[in-house]
Formats: sequence, structure tokens, C-alpha cells
Amino acid sequence: MKISIIGSGFVGATTAYALVMRGVGRQIVLVDLNKQRAQAEADDIFHAVPFAHPLNVSAGGYPDIAGSKAVVVAAGVGQKPGETRLQLLERNVAVFRSILPEVYRYAPDAVLLVATNPVDVLTHAAAQIASEFGIPPSRILGSGTTLDTARFRALLGRHLKVDPQHVHAYVVGEHGDSEVLTWSLATVGGAPLDVIAEQEGIPLDQEVRDSLDRNVRYAAYNIIDGKGATYYGVGSALTRIIGVILGDQRSILTVCTPVEEIAGVKDVTVSLPFLIGGSGVLDRFPLPVSPEEEALLNKSAGVVRSAIDSLKLA
Ligand code: NAD
Repeated sequence: MKISIIGSGFVGATTAYALVMRGVGRQIVLVDLNKQRAQAEADDIFHAVPFAHPLNVSAGGYPDIAGSKAVVVAAGVGQKPGETRLQLLERNVAVFRSILPEVYRYAPDAVLLVATNPVDVLTHAAAQIASEFGIPPSRILGSGTTLDTARFRALLGRHLKVDPQHVHAYVVGEHGDSEVLTWSLATVGGAPLDVIAEQEGIPLDQEVRDSLDRNVRYAAYNIIDGKGATYYGVGSALTRIIGVILGDQRSILTVCTPVEEIAGVKDVTVSLPFLIGGSGVLDRFPLPVSPEEEALLNKSAGVVRSAIDSLKLA
């Protein structure tokens, strides 16, 4: 199955590499304004194939994405000196306005997976642009807080000394500072966190929770301070989402997609636990969080809705 990646910078190229390492899909096409970069990344990643899985990796133009089952958009422009967040957002919406018509011209049946930040707002914009081509919002999703959820599970697992695969803990809301860690729903091997912590004699008081919260919420700042960009975590998250789509796996993932209402905020795109399968978003899962977390989710969804309003998107 073919996967196309528009934007082969750090995030796009790392995703392609992770797809090859995990053997997800059969063919990867990299498309970038910078054709030389796309070709170089495709060649470099293809040379790893004999050590991993037999995928074909190539660089190409939009006609080459025809037949893709999933199309990732990791293209974006960086912030210019003196540019406001809104101006940057407007430029990235313009980038999407140039990319999406090409995607739907050549791969009208693909599930679109947005990675470009701010991912919630741009997924909302992408769904709006896609609707002009008759594409339903269920076929548009953003990586959202899939990465933040992974960070939460990884840090909780390390703290409680349990394989994170057995830690179920969702981060929802905006992929950003206002995101909500749903401590009230978190379980390890089916048991509430407090029960495990007490049994194992591991502290999990408010101070410890606050510290874990900060390390999840602000992880990207520390990584960007240290090396300029984040890509391994998100590349792995995108690979997982693509695997779920290609395998029609019906997995629950905290991606973002437009919803009519969440926590009192209408017509917004934020991350929630969604059931994901071959055609994209299949269903939204209930989120019976505590009243405090519901209030935080209301604020977080409000942050995204304000950005959508400032862009004058519908
Ligand atoms: P990067 O600058 O390395 O790559 C961006 C690429 O997009 C460049 O190669 C550029 O040439 C290409 N591009 C720009 N305009 C294009 C267009 N119109 N058509 C095709 N290609 C185009 O950036 P990066 O580090 O790979 O990050 C990409 C995006 O992913 C950023 O918006 C970043 O904030 C975001 N990101 C998201 C998450 C997440 O969890 N969703 C995590 C990390 C980064």
C-alpha cells in the first residue's frame, strides 16, 4: 500500500524512516518543494531497506501520490523574525491551500493525516479545504496529542516501573500548553494509578504528578532547546496512526478531527479518544473525566476555537 508524505523535513523524513523500520506499507513517496532534499532523504532511507523491510521509497511530484491510502502533511514554513503567531498560521494555511487541491486531484480516496503545527487549527483548516472537494471530515485527522499521550504513558510507565504498553492514560485537548492530562481515567493493567503506586511503594502525590505533568506538557520546549526540533516521537506516532489506517485496526488514538461540540465549545478541532480504522475516524469515544478536567478541557478547546476565529475560518 502506498503512503505519501508531503514535506520531507525532519518530521516527514523521520516518519518515512520509521515506516521502513516497522514495515508499514509497501511504497513511500516523498514530495517537497525542495526536490533535492526529498530525493536525498528518499535515497538515504531506501538504503536502510535491506536491514529492515522491503518497502520502496522514492521522491516525486503530486502525480506520483496517485493511489495513496494515506497522505501525511508535514510541510510547513518556519517563523520569520518579527512574525506573529497568527501571521505564521496564515502562511501555513496558505501552504495547505496550495497542497490539498493537488492531494485531492491525485489521491481523492486517501485518509489525510496532518502533522504541521499548530496541528489542531491546521487540521480544522484542512477539513474545511477538503470539504470543498466533497471529502468528509472523518477522512481528515491530525496527529494531535497522540505524541503527548505517548509521553504521558512513557513517563508514567517509567515512574511506576511498568511497561508503558500497559499504561492507559490519555492527553486530550489542544496539542500545546493548554492540553489536559486525564489523570482521573489513567489505569495500569486495569487498576487505578493510586492502587499500583501504593502497592509498589512508589510516591504519586501531587508534587510528583505536577512534575510528570510539566515533563509531558513542556517536553517539546526542552527538546527544541537542546537540538532545534522534535521528530523521533512524532515520526513514531505518525507511523502508528498510518499502521492503524492501513490495517483497518480499529484502535483508539488521541488524534484530532473536527467535532460539533466538546466540553461546551462548539465546532472545534481538538484531540480526544477516537476509534480509528481504514476510512479514518470511525467514532468518538466517551470521555468521563472529572469535573476539574472537564473545565480544563473547556479552556483548552476554547484556545483552539479562538485561533480558528482569528483566522476567520468557519
Ligand atoms: P522542516 O522545516 O524540517 O520541514 C518542513 C518541510 O516542508 C521543508 O522540507 C519544506 O521544504 C517543506 N515545505 C514547505 N512548504 C511546502 C509546500 N508548499 N509543499 C511541499 N513542501 C513544503 O520542519 P519539521 O521539523 O519537519 O516540522 C514540520 C512541521 O511538523 C512543523 O510545523 C512542526 O511544528 C510540526 N511538528 C508537529 C509535531 C506534532 O506532534 N504534530 C511534532 C513536531 C513537529
